[in-house]
Amino acid sequence: MSVIEELQITPYINAHDTYTVYGGSRMSARTLEDMRQIAAVFVDMEELQLRLGQAAAQLTKNEDAFFTNGSAGALTTAAAVCICRGDPFVFARLPAVTKDAPDEIIQLHCQHNAYDKAVEAAGAKIVEIGDADETLEFDLDGRITERTAAVFYYASSLYARGSLPLEQVIETAHRRGVPVVVDAAAQLPPVENLWRYTQAGADMVIFSGGKTLCGPQDSGLILGKREWIDLCRRFGSPNHGVCRGCKTSREAMVGLYSALRQYVELDHEENRHRLLERIGRIAVRLEQLEQVRLETVHHGPVGQDYPRLFIHLASPAQAQAVHRAMRARHTYIGLEGAAVYVSPLNLTDGEADTVAAQLTETICESM
Ligand SMILES: *Cc1c(COP(=O)(O)O)cnc(C)c1O
Repeated sequence: MSVIEELQITPYINAHDTYTVYGGSRMSARTLEDMRQIAAVFVDMEELQLRLGQAAAQLTKNEDAFFTNGSAGALTTAAAVCICRGDPFVFARLPAVTKDAPDEIIQLHCQHNAYDKAVEAAGAKIVEIGDADETLEFDLDGRITERTAAVFYYASSLYARGSLPLEQVIETAHRRGVPVVVDAAAQLPPVENLWRYTQAGADMVIFSGGKTLCGPQDSGLILGKREWIDLCRRFGSPNHGVCRGCKTSREAMVGLYSALRQYVELDHEENRHRLLERIGRIAVRLEQLEQVRLETVHHGPVGQDYPRLFIHLASPAQAQAVHRAMRARHTYIGLEGAAVYVSPLNLTDGEADTVAAQLTETICESM
């Protein structure tokens, strides 16, 4: 009996996206095998962190890298090292801020999102600049004081409307001696994003391991400049203090490294064709339905470079009914207004065929 049967857990198909509530993404056989190998031996965790960091940095054209338990843990770690700036007395007391340490982290109001608490957990106070419509250079320049620990910037295209371009944020912050941290948790593909933000001058850039990289769900990566990554190694988990809750295992670290290597070495053009083909498998089945309009959208929910199949239905009520009926068949799909959508990222070809058959049924039933 498998453990899934033993626990009576319902397996789902994930045709929606790499969301944590579904378990994120799927690790490859190679990743699982590399995790099994490191699990069989004991290691010096400090040496492992150093070696993996050097190897990940080389793969991603960065100076250095630090492995953590996810992007939320990476935000806490980055905030903590920006506040303490190498002072162990200040660090040891976080999240209480002592000795006039700079504790303000500037964020753009238009980028406000659900991960604020991961930043505040380190002891930071978030200071917002700009509004929903625009953020100007003087909003940032005028807000920087001796209390400013860092600027945290969220790379998602969702925030493009009111944002100040990253390059301008970096220029202004650096002119005032303030580091810039970019949260790019879900910003893959394109693979070039692994070095684009650091090459633009960002000090630390954060990626989730469990999203497009297909590493363990509980893994994440901080890429960046050596002086900051050195501080992550010195103060970050497994050291005691505010980052200890961001502890990650040797299995998760090696799993993320393995997944990262496979991702960087992937033929991304060929992969794009594979994803389009997988959408095509579903589209040909649905084209036969009347009153359904199909649309291939060439970006992910936060502006990533991959295709999704939108199925435009008659009304939001019908879309909700189809979404609900698919859930009852143990398949996750997306819902947006009067449309449902399918992402090919986490599907096998076999699952794509199942999704196509289920969608045909549920759409017919909802008419
Ligand atoms: C998913 C996400 C996170 C959290 O990532 P985890 O790896 O699940 O901790 C943080 N920031 C953004 C913008 C995200 O999309």
